[in-house]
Amino acid sequence: MLVLSKQQQTFAFSALRVTFSAMSYGSISYNAHAALAKAATDLGILYNTGEGGLHEDFYRYGPNTIVQVASGRFGVHEDYLEAGAAIEIKMGQGAKPGIGGHLPGAKIVGDVSKTRMIPEGSDAISPAPHHDIYSIEDLRQLVFSLKEATDYKKPVIVKVAAVHNIAAIAGGIARSGADIIAIDGFRGGTGAAPTRIRDNVGIPIELALASVDRRLREEGIRNNVSLVVGGSIRNSADVIKAIALGADACYVATAALLAMGCHLCRSCQTGRCNWGIATQRPDLVSRLDPEVASRRLENLITAWRNEIMEMMGGMGINSIEALRGNRLMLRGIGLTGKELEILGIGHAGE
Ligand code: SF4
Repeated sequence: MLVLSKQQQTFAFSALRVTFSAMSYGSISYNAHAALAKAATDLGILYNTGEGGLHEDFYRYGPNTIVQVASGRFGVHEDYLEAGAAIEIKMGQGAKPGIGGHLPGAKIVGDVSKTRMIPEGSDAISPAPHHDIYSIEDLRQLVFSLKEATDYKKPVIVKVAAVHNIAAIAGGIARSGADIIAIDGFRGGTGAAPTRIRDNVGIPIELALASVDRRLREEGIRNNVSLVVGGSIRNSADVIKAIALGADACYVATAALLAMGCHLCRSCQTGRCNWGIATQRPDLVSRLDPEVASRRLENLITAWRNEIMEMMGGMGINSIEALRGNRLMLRGIGLTGKELEILGIGHAGE
């Protein structure tokens, strides 16, 4: 059985084991950010600022906010770090491993520029690497700088993309002093990733998670960290499978956008989202009612919670703790022997 520290429990045992993944103010609108923040607060879960800083209006949602520190360091300052319940260092993203971020200057207007602390109209470019991190020792320095800046009160998450040597990478992160490792699988959502990268780089989250969970157990350090996974978590059954493979919680983003009305046109980078989600144009932003959108988000997560409880009931399991890492509850169909071996599960019928 896994034992988590008090600090980790605060995060990983948030009621639903599902939390909203990083979406930055600037890439999404003020109203979309407001809807996520309000829904997370009402549900008792967390949402994530992404790398866009935190608009001053949203500081009141701090106890339900993960504040992110990415390579661009946009909007990162002492009050920002203090505002969140947890701090996430973004090293990589599942939809575009090895690639930084680029928010076009057309979206850097008004409060977005103020919140990010960069001039209006300038492209917000996050380099692929953090220029001060080239080793686990460097990462450890940033982890402990952030802990020290916040009096060791906030858990630090390190987010990485799921790639072929993820188990070794996760072992290093666990030793860096991070409290939580977030692994983002391929096919994660973003409107701005080149499709060739999105669809061909990175590995499925299930394989990454299973290999990381096994490696950390073998090294005797699994209990030092929590694991959060995202990228291709599309429904409540995906949450169940991820937890049975060893995850403590799941990140969801695309499903949340869909709940708010997104129709997956994948043109977020144009800044002309006609649902008012991925835009800064006032006439389009006003199309998204944050109250309605937050209720839709709450409906989504509440429905998933009910489905998860139903499925666990069907399995004869009465708590998430009993499901975590419980691979006996899983069977594979249509998978190769190697895939079954990595996942650590039997074939259907066995
Ligand atoms: S509707 Fe299109 S532009 Fe708007 S968030 Fe969805 S994919 Fe992006």
